[in-house]
Amino acid sequence: MSEKREFQTEVTKLLDIVINSLYSEKYIFLRELISNASDACDKLKYWALTNPDAAKTSGEFKIKIIPDEKENTLVVSDNGIGMNKDDLINHIGTIAKSGTADFVRNAKDNGSMVDLIGQFGVGFYSAFMVAKKVEITTRKAGEEQAWKWVSDGLGGYEISEAKKESNGTDIKLFLKDDAKDFTDTIYLRHVIRTYSDHVEYPIVLDLGKAGEETVNTASALWTRNKADITPEQYKEFYRHVSKNFDDPWLTLHFKAEGSIEYNALLYIPSTAPYDLFQPDRQQSLKLYVNKVFISDKVEGLMPAYLRFVKGVIDSSDLPLNISREMLQQSALLAKIRQGTVSRILKELTKRMKDYDDYLKFWNAFGIAFKEGIYEDFSNRDEVAALSLFASTNSEEKLTSLDEYISRAKPEQKAIYYITGDDVPTLRNNPQLEAFKEKGVEVLLLTDPIDEFWTQTLTTYKTFAIKHISQADVDLSIKRDSKKADEGDLKKLTDLMADMFKNEVGKVIVTEKLTKSPAALNVENGQMSIHLERLMRNHQQQTAFASTRILEINPYHPLIIKLAEMLGDENKKTEVSEVSRLVLDQAKIAEGEAVSDPSFFAEKVSEYILKGM
Ligand code: ADP
Ligand code: MG
Repeated sequence: MSEKREFQTEVTKLLDIVINSLYSEKYIFLRELISNASDACDKLKYWALTNPDAAKTSGEFKIKIIPDEKENTLVVSDNGIGMNKDDLINHIGTIAKSGTADFVRNAKDNGSMVDLIGQFGVGFYSAFMVAKKVEITTRKAGEEQAWKWVSDGLGGYEISEAKKESNGTDIKLFLKDDAKDFTDTIYLRHVIRTYSDHVEYPIVLDLGKAGEETVNTASALWTRNKADITPEQYKEFYRHVSKNFDDPWLTLHFKAEGSIEYNALLYIPSTAPYDLFQPDRQQSLKLYVNKVFISDKVEGLMPAYLRFVKGVIDSSDLPLNISREMLQQSALLAKIRQGTVSRILKELTKRMKDYDDYLKFWNAFGIAFKEGIYEDFSNRDEVAALSLFASTNSEEKLTSLDEYISRAKPEQKAIYYITGDDVPTLRNNPQLEAFKEKGVEVLLLTDPIDEFWTQTLTTYKTFAIKHISQADVDLSIKRDSKKADEGDLKKLTDLMADMFKNEVGKVIVTEKLTKSPAALNVENGQMSIHLERLMRNHQQQTAFASTRILEINPYHPLIIKLAEMLGDENKKTEVSEVSRLVLDQAKIAEGEAVSDPSFFAEKVSEYILKGM
C-alpha cells in the first residue's frame, strides 16, 4: 500500500528555486548526496558504539556510486543509519529547521534567494536539478521494515513499504536528458575527486564489468597532514561541515598537544547566516572522539559570541561512552574551548593587520563577536582589541581601540563614546560639538550590544571608557561671539524648567555646544537615552526613565533672542512656542519623538514663513 503526501509549501518553493536557478552548477547534487551518506555513516558509527548490542551493522562503511548509462540512472548508496517512515516524512519533504522554513517563506523573490541560499545549502533537494524522478529505498539500522519514497519533485511524494537486505539508503536518480554526463564514469570520478575527496569513508565507483574503484582518499581530512591538503580540499570540507555554499573567510587547522590532545579544523564563513541572532541558534561545531562523530550540538564547545565558527574538533582524550549531557559538563571540554578560542583570537589578531580583509569578517560577524567583550571575562581585552567601531575620526574607516588611543590628546585619560540609533544621525548629535571643536575623538556606537559591553568594560589599557556625558577633559571653548545676559538666562532656564517639568528634570546652561541651541542629556550615571529607547522598544521598561537634562547654548542667536524677549509682555506666546520648538529640536537630534508632532509641524512652518 502506498501513501501519497504533499510537500510542505516551503519545500515546493525551495525546489522551484533550486531547479530553476542553480542549474549551471548541477554537480552540486552529487556532493550533497555524498555528504548526506557520510553523515548517515557517522550517525551509525556513533550509535553502534553506544549501543553495541542493538547494532548489527553491515561491515565496513562505504558509499557506492552506481551509474547506468543505458537506463540513464544513477544510484548513491550508503550503509549508514538509514531512515524509517517517520524519518522520511520529517526529514525529506519537510524543512526541519524552523528558521530555514521561515526564511524561505519570507523571501520576497527568487533572485534574492539565490544569493542567500548559500547560507543553508540545498541539501537533498538538489537531486531534482538532475533527476526527473527520485526513488529512495531505505532501512533504518535496528529495524526490520524498509521503505520506499518516490517523487518527481513537483509537489508531492509517495511512501510505501519495501524490501531491503540491510540497513542504509539507496537513492536512485532517474536522470533528465540533459544530465546524461552523470552516467559517465570518467566525469563522475572527476566530480567526486573534486568535491568529495575529503569524505572519510571510501566512495566506491561502480565501473560495471571493469569492477569497482575507490575514488577518494578516504581518511578524515582533519587527521591528515596540513602539507598534504590542498586549498580546494579545505574549501570542499568547509562546505560539507558548514552546509554553506560560500568560501570560508578563515581556515584554521591545528593539532593541540599538552594536557589534552585534539585536532581542530575550524572555519569562519565569509557571509553571516540569516539566523545569527535567533535566540535558539547554537554553535554548530562537530565534535568527534577519535574519528567517531558525537554531536554537532555540544553546548559549551564554543562560546556564544563565536557561534558562527564551523568545523570539527576531534579528541581521543574524551570518553566515548558518556552521554552528551555529561560531556557538556566535562572539564576537558572547557580546556578544549579555552584552547580553540585563544587560537581563533590569535588568528584574528594576525588578520586584523589587513584592514580591508578584516572588514569582511567584521561586517559579517562583528555584532555577534562584540558580545564577547562582556561575555568572555578571561579574553575581554583581546576581544575588545579585535573590535572595530565607527568614530568621529573618519567617515570611511572604522577604528580599533588601539588606534583611538594612538590619536588621543596628551591630557586625555579616557576613550569617549556616544550611543544612538545610527551613525549618520550620531555624527550630527549636538553633544559632540565641543568634542569636535577640541579635536577629541568619540566612538559612535549604534548596536544594542554596545550599551552592554560599555557597562562591563570600563577601562581599556590605561584608558577609562566613558560616555561623553561623563567627560572630564576640558571642553570649554574660547569664544568671541556674543553671549546672552546672565540674568536673562537664569529667567529663561527657570521658565523652561517650569514649562517642561513633565518632560525634563532640569534645564541648565552649557558651554559645550557650538552649532545647536540646545541638547538633551541625562543625569550622570543614569541609563542613556538610547538604551532607554531600546528597552522601550522591547517593552522591557516602561515606567522608569532617566532624568532628562535640557542643556541650552548661551551663544546661540536663538537663545540670545529668547532671553531678550522674556521681559516683553506682548511676546509671551512667542517665547513659550519657541521654547517648545527648542526642546523638540533637541529631542529630534537625540532620536526621540516630539511630544506633539502636529504642533511642531505647524509652528515650524509658521516661523519659517515669518522669516522669509
Ligand atoms: P541536511 O543534510 O542539511 O540535514 P538534507 O536536505 O541534505 O539536509 O537532508 C535532510 C535530512 O534527510 C538529513 O538531515 C537526514 O536526516 C536525512 N537524510 C538525507 N539523506 C540521508 C541518508 N543517505 N541516510 C540517512 N538520512 C538521510
Ligand atoms: Mg545534507
